[in-house]
Amino acid sequence: MNDLGGHPDNCIFCRILDGKEEATFLYRNSRVSAFLDIHPLFEGHTLVIPNDHYVDISDVSEESLGEVMKVAQEVSNLMRKNLGAEGINIMHATGRPAGQTIYHFHVHVLPRRTGDDVEFQSWWFSRSHKASREELENLAGKLLRK
Ligand SMILES: [Zn+2]
Repeated sequence: MNDLGGHPDNCIFCRILDGKEEATFLYRNSRVSAFLDIHPLFEGHTLVIPNDHYVDISDVSEESLGEVMKVAQEVSNLMRKNLGAEGINIMHATGRPAGQTIYHFHVHVLPRRTGDDVEFQSWWFSRSHKASREELENLAGKLLRK
């Protein structure tokens, strides 16, 4: 929650939740909402957000995070059942280098079909390398530093 205890008026998602901007909702309960992305990467591309204004993965409450993921699962199941999705990607961005453009925590649910024109997997493998055990152990030590 923000310090004001309400929805900031300069946040597009809060404006949607307050009914000041339009959205096509798939789901809404007291804690979480899901609506169709206005700039879909794939047909059915859906955003799932907490109703409270959290900025990113660092400040979202445990309860809201859990509920967001539960609804992302429900939306995924609807995509498979009713849109013919054969696969699902769930994506999130925290911070500008990761591609975050709206600073209200959200998760993208992307329905995937064989032959659609976005190939994460080949890009992923072209960019990654097989790490040595030593490299991984050193990184784990760094990550877990007190
Ligand atoms: Zn917001």
